[in-house]
Amino acid sequence: MKFDTILVQGGHNPVENRNCISVPIYQTTAYNFDDVQYAADLFDLKSGGDIYTRISNPTTQVLEERLAMLEGGVGALCLSSGQSASLISILNIAKSGDEIIASENIYGGTVNLLGVTLEKMGIKTRFVSSQKPEDFEKEINEKTVCIFAEALTNPQIIVADIEALSKIAHKHNIPLIIDNTVATPYLLKPFEFGADIAVYSMTKYIASHGNAMGGVIIDSGNFDWNVSEKFKCLTDNDPSYHGLSYTEEFGKSAYIVKARVQLLRDLGCCLSPFNAYLTLQGLETLSLRMQRHSNSAIVVAKFLQKHPMIKSVGYPGLEGDKYYNLAKKYLPLGASSLLNFVIDGDRKVSTKFIENLKMLIHATNIGDTRTIVTYPALTTHRQLSAKQLEECGISESLIRLSIGLEDVDDIIEDINQALSKAMS
Ligand SMILES: *Cc1c(COP(=O)(O)O)cnc(C)c1O
Repeated sequence: MKFDTILVQGGHNPVENRNCISVPIYQTTAYNFDDVQYAADLFDLKSGGDIYTRISNPTTQVLEERLAMLEGGVGALCLSSGQSASLISILNIAKSGDEIIASENIYGGTVNLLGVTLEKMGIKTRFVSSQKPEDFEKEINEKTVCIFAEALTNPQIIVADIEALSKIAHKHNIPLIIDNTVATPYLLKPFEFGADIAVYSMTKYIASHGNAMGGVIIDSGNFDWNVSEKFKCLTDNDPSYHGLSYTEEFGKSAYIVKARVQLLRDLGCCLSPFNAYLTLQGLETLSLRMQRHSNSAIVVAKFLQKHPMIKSVGYPGLEGDKYYNLAKKYLPLGASSLLNFVIDGDRKVSTKFIENLKMLIHATNIGDTRTIVTYPALTTHRQLSAKQLEECGISESLIRLSIGLEDVDDIIEDINQALSKAMS
């Protein structure tokens, strides 16, 4: 099956579901066991099957299979949010005393998760401020268990050099985890460039209607966990499953099986079946939406670039952008919906611009079907100090747009009238 066929049919067979064409919502918490031996085998992981919806659910399973097929992975694990996907992707291989290397320009919520919350649990993150792959390599030591980066960051809209990062990670026998939320598997498939694990906030482009939170981890199955003593959690015996070794028992799927049967079981941040259903509705149109998002974003970026009141525009699809060459390599189908710009004026002018928008929605979200405007310095990145803001390249008056599916003429007209009012 090709990408667009998987989007609408992958992982679901109507014949096995009472001929339902649409994926049914299995709104159940528990499952009937055929007999005692069947139940015992399920609990010993000797056979597949549903035990309890915290660990697996048939509706969610369709979404997981569909996403794993789209990405070319061996398996996927859906979770309650993008944050839980990032958290579990790391906890699955890191313990107290271990270290992570991450780009400093990743999502603000992830910066806090790694830099504050995981730090309290004894997992230290070394943040790298440059985009140079060699600067990531300098931070690797005997405690490092992974490199974590975003394919396309926001609000700075940086394109990561995934191929270079994966080469460095593999040279040092550690995996590369890529948060691919903004590019989505339609525009970029991280495994094709050597990434080992992909994580997504499905809340954004995958679900897209702005009505369901969700996250997912997808495992390429390509990383050899036996390559280093660092990954004993996957190769050695797990006392919570009678001494089972994930790599021995599940081979290439060791990482994603462990994330489910150990961490999701224990931490409980599962996706609800209803949200899996809503996410499936959104996912069906991913290709069409990403094309429209990208086509409209470049039109808006060019409009802003020519506007006399705009100091700078950031959009990697724009010729002359700092990341244009990387975008040509990694995002040949389009550069997604995010762009940023700086109005020639102070904080008051930017505030006035936002307050005068009539149609564009002022909120903190991206990848929605509707165009959303965000003022990072005052909202999403509020917790960062002035120095941290400067370090991650966020000007005090930087404005971020997530271009939606409205008619692009209406989007431009609204921006244009609000800019005029902001300057008057
Ligand atoms: C929103 C977002 C997250 C967090 O996802 P939630 O679903 O909001 O928990 C993680 N990474 C990126 C790039 C995001 O945009």
